[in-house]
Amino acid sequence: MFSGLTVNPPVIEKIQTEWCAAIDFSVLRLDLVYPQLGGNKLFKLLPNIDVARRLGKKSLASFGGAYSNHLRALAAAGKIFDIKTVGFVRGEIITPLNPVLEFAVSQGMELIPVSRTAYRNKHTAAFLAQIRKNFNDPYIIPEGGSNLHGVRGCMEIAKFLLETADDKKRVVMLACGTGATMSGLIAGLHSRAASETRVIGIAVLKAPGYIEKQVQKFTEELTSGAAAYPVEWQVLDDFHCGGYGKTSVELNTFIDTWQASSHVPIEPVYTGKMFWAVKQLCENGFFAEGSEVVLIHTGGVYACQ
Ligand SMILES: *Cc1c(COP(=O)(O)O)cnc(C)c1O
Repeated sequence: MFSGLTVNPPVIEKIQTEWCAAIDFSVLRLDLVYPQLGGNKLFKLLPNIDVARRLGKKSLASFGGAYSNHLRALAAAGKIFDIKTVGFVRGEIITPLNPVLEFAVSQGMELIPVSRTAYRNKHTAAFLAQIRKNFNDPYIIPEGGSNLHGVRGCMEIAKFLLETADDKKRVVMLACGTGATMSGLIAGLHSRAASETRVIGIAVLKAPGYIEKQVQKFTEELTSGAAAYPVEWQVLDDFHCGGYGKTSVELNTFIDTWQASSHVPIEPVYTGKMFWAVKQLCENGFFAEGSEVVLIHTGGVYACQ
């Protein structure tokens, strides 16, 4: 999986919280796997880069907002693997560049602004054909790195959980933007027969039912429609705090309180919403006593910022 890359195997750290006494919490630190390229985006990108190389492509292109973790990771990967990257950024590119785009440029990424209207049509055959023509036929990765190769890459995440499974009933929690990471996790747990594990996704955007549909679609595609994965899973749509990138006073207070007492960094777009959801779920009796809850740290926090 990590061919050509020396990574830190992700650790599962126990965390101390005052949320619920009878529950054991830990965090799978995917954020620490590789400097500048930690988190779930690494898992989604590596298989895509392999495919691009096999196809003999000279560059990688993808899409994202001005604060996209995915474009940031793609730029870092391009630098590491010495392959040109092009990032299509939604809306205007404002200068001076924000830290994410500045980092992307420092890694050699070419940034191209795309109007919000055009961005909405970025999946159409006409738009993609235009990119192929104008940018010398790059390998095009969808927004968020969320294609089936990306989902397959995320199956690897399950491996780290299985290595440390104990007898307790485990609940695995993660933040979802497209559901690709969650789909890979479900598939990976199934292929190694860990049916004692339940997977719960926290949707960070306001689109009830969307992530669930995506997970259904991705897992069906992986099995070619043969059989659904028997791993129990569920998406919770009530913890988005108003929508993607939106925050609330309560969320910010939770994050501040967390940061003051923990060395595990979180941010408001993904991991902060998920950690906060876990606290609330816990207080509402969502987790059975004696269960072990593993929070997947999908990244999105950078020491250099
Ligand atoms: C992109 C991202 C996610 C969402 O992953 P999906 O596979 O799109 O659901 C979660 N957490 C962080 C930190 C991310 O950057």
